[in-house]
This record gives sequence, structure tokens and C-alpha cells, in this order.
Amino acid sequence: MRPAKLWRGDATHGIRYHHAMPKSVDILAIAAHRDDVEQTCGGTLLKMAQMGRTTAILDLSRGEMGTRGTMEARAREAEDARQILRVSWRKALDIPDGCVENTFENRKKVAAVIRELRPRVLILPYWEARHPDHYTAGVLGYEAAFVAGLAKLDLGFTAHRPFKVIYASLYAEVRPTFVVDITDQFEARLQSLLAYRSQYSDQASGTGVFPREAEIREKLAHMAGFYGLLAGVKYAEPFVQKEVGLVEDLLAIPVQSI
Ligand SMILES: [Zn+2]
Repeated sequence: MRPAKLWRGDATHGIRYHHAMPKSVDILAIAAHRDDVEQTCGGTLLKMAQMGRTTAILDLSRGEMGTRGTMEARAREAEDARQILRVSWRKALDIPDGCVENTFENRKKVAAVIRELRPRVLILPYWEARHPDHYTAGVLGYEAAFVAGLAKLDLGFTAHRPFKVIYASLYAEVRPTFVVDITDQFEARLQSLLAYRSQYSDQASGTGVFPREAEIREKLAHMAGFYGLLAGVKYAEPFVQKEVGLVEDLLAIPVQSI
């Protein structure tokens, strides 16, 4: 399902505000690159939005190092994906693509967004990955969340720390702490990824369709199917939390054992 119209906005700063600015959001997902969130937790964000939660995405970079597509094209694609996933707010910082570093300057940039949006739940990339930008984004995001809570640090907004930090672990070879059932969101999540036409369409063909769509669909279905199997559902997205889970009622624990 393609959005009817593209958002037109400030193409020079990469800063994109949507709707009226929410006072606070329930969930903020941070990732290194545009389309990372779509790959690792897009189904979960859509599911939360469908449950009435407000969601937001902060991309740390703008994709200027990508071999395909311009920065402006990727910004429009990110906006299309935002609409498909019903995300309330999305912005891209100006941290260099391919060079995401955990510096105090960058921590302050991310902390200012955390203070501005005041999320209860923060989703970060898992802290180990093949791509340095990905694991650095996980560590940078965590430390920025800490910095955001330092009351004496002046960042222009009231101090705030998310209640919960969870890690999207789709690309890490690690057993998730829990998974989110995205069976009903799988198709839209695929479409949000295909919205990145400069990345995922075969431009050489000139057909205007997605020759790689079947290949992408199969890969996503394998990954989501694997994590779904772990919890007895069709498709799921995996997460790691560092804290121990707390149970009130043994009879309400989900996922069958035997
Ligand atoms: Zn990435």
C-alpha cells in the first residue's frame, strides 16, 4: 500500500516535523540509518500505533554515503515509510553516515531529542553488530538516554530518562528476551521497506516495479518466521532487555512450554 502523496518539506536541514508536535511519545526508536528501523522493529512500531500508542523514529544519519539514491530521495522515502508504519514523528540528525561515533557532542544531540519527545520506551539497536554504525548507535543511544536525565545539563528541554530501554536484535545472533507478534503487521512492514525505492528497486530494469520484491519478501518472511516459531506465532520481531522480567501471575505467562 503506497501513501497517496509525498511530504514536501525542508530538504536542506533533514529535519522533518509531522502533525502537531506531540507533547510526548510512548515509544522512540533510534537507529543509525534510514530503513534500519523498518528492518528491525517496524512491525512492532505499527502494532503499537494500532493499539493507540504514539511512536517516533530518530535516524542518526541521512544516507549521504549510500551508493544508490540521493539524500533527498532517501528523505522522501523515509517519510513514505513513516506514513505506512503510522509513526507520529520522524527526524534525521546530521551525524555522518558511515561514521556514527559515540562522542559527547552526539550524545547531546540525541539526548535533546529524548528530552523533547519524553518517550517511556526507547528502542535501540542491539549493542553487537557487523556494521560499526549499528552497534555504536546502540551504545550512543543508551548513553544519550543517561545524559538526557542529567538535570544540570542545559539542552533546552526538561531532563527526562526513558523508563525502559529495549534492544532490537534481529541482526544479532543472540537469543531474544522476548518477541513481538507481528503476523498482522508483516505485510505493511514489508511495504515500508519497499518504500525505499532507491535502495530496493532494480533501477537498471526501468520497469518501475520491484523485481527484487519476491527476494526481499522471502528473506523477511524467513527471519520473522524464525522468531515467530520461538513463541508459537507466524511472524515476530525479537528484542533483548537487560533487566530480569517480573511476573505477578503464573497463570498469565504467555508462550506454551510443552
Ligand atoms: Zn543500517
